[in-house]
Amino acid sequence: MNSNVKSFYRIYRPKSFDAVVGQEFITRTLSNQIASQKIGHAYLFCGTRGTGKTSVAKIFADAVNCENFKDGKVCGQCAWCQNPNKSMDIFEIDAASNNGVDAVRDLIESVKYPPVVGKYKVYIIDEVHMFSGAAFNALLKTLEEPPAHVIFVLATTEPHKLLPTVQSRCLRFNFQNVGLADLEKVIKGVFQNEKITADDAAVTLIAKEGQGSVRDALSFADTVAAYCGKDPITVAAINHVVGGLDAKVFQTLVAQIVANDAKGVRETVNQIFNSSTGTARIMAGTLTALKDAYVQQTNPRLANALRIFANLETTLKYANDPHGYFETAALVACGA
Ligand SMILES: [Zn+2]
Repeated sequence: MNSNVKSFYRIYRPKSFDAVVGQEFITRTLSNQIASQKIGHAYLFCGTRGTGKTSVAKIFADAVNCENFKDGKVCGQCAWCQNPNKSMDIFEIDAASNNGVDAVRDLIESVKYPPVVGKYKVYIIDEVHMFSGAAFNALLKTLEEPPAHVIFVLATTEPHKLLPTVQSRCLRFNFQNVGLADLEKVIKGVFQNEKITADDAAVTLIAKEGQGSVRDALSFADTVAAYCGKDPITVAAINHVVGGLDAKVFQTLVAQIVANDAKGVRETVNQIFNSSTGTARIMAGTLTALKDAYVQQTNPRLANALRIFANLETTLKYANDPHGYFETAALVACGA
């Protein structure tokens, strides 16, 4: 929906440990490890999307290399902090788009060489559970005995998909869903900076859409801000954005379920999850459309779909992959 060219989430990514919201335990522990020079060589960051795993990994990669890291902050003055080529020692690999053995082989090859600028080379592997079995096996050997100058940060939304051998070699941190008050604070900060006016109730509503994810909350804020333009953001405006977006899409989904159109269902589910709408609103939209359709025609498939989706509500709230669960439910309802 909204373009990612200038998304709030990207612009306002935290740059220091104290700017990370809702993960105090983790940022404090990492700070203390660096200060006392008790750094691990493999970390596992687990948690739902948008809780700060990659941001913290990047901050950590910078912090371990600063020569005078103090009080949770990099000094900004040492050879590392001042070097414009820091990125040569920090590697970000997205396992979701690089699930092959080749990517891991390149990584293992590069691990051997010492860092260019700092003390450590840091490899941040996002969505590490997406690596194929062969890629994992290749990585395991390196994880077992990483060179002293190497640190791995593996991030995942689905830790249960990782081999126990991987988990046992890493220091694990569980990122918490971000609380409503913290989300509100982040949104208020962004709006203040962007000179956007929004009343408190509107900020709360946007925070709720985030469902514990800073990324989801800010991406929804993006959409609402784009809709409102120069006008102040209000609850009515937000409802207009969401209401206008949803009703028709959910009616389409229900029609496709009734018509046994699995391909259409998949497309519509993608469309729904590509919008910035939170899972609570997605569930509400789906159930409303199903109930409306059922009142108009008491179709056994609709009754079945209502049962399936009513049971899905709680699951979706805590699921790491709400899109996957929702799609499966829609396909089951569709009889595919
Ligand atoms: Zn420094």
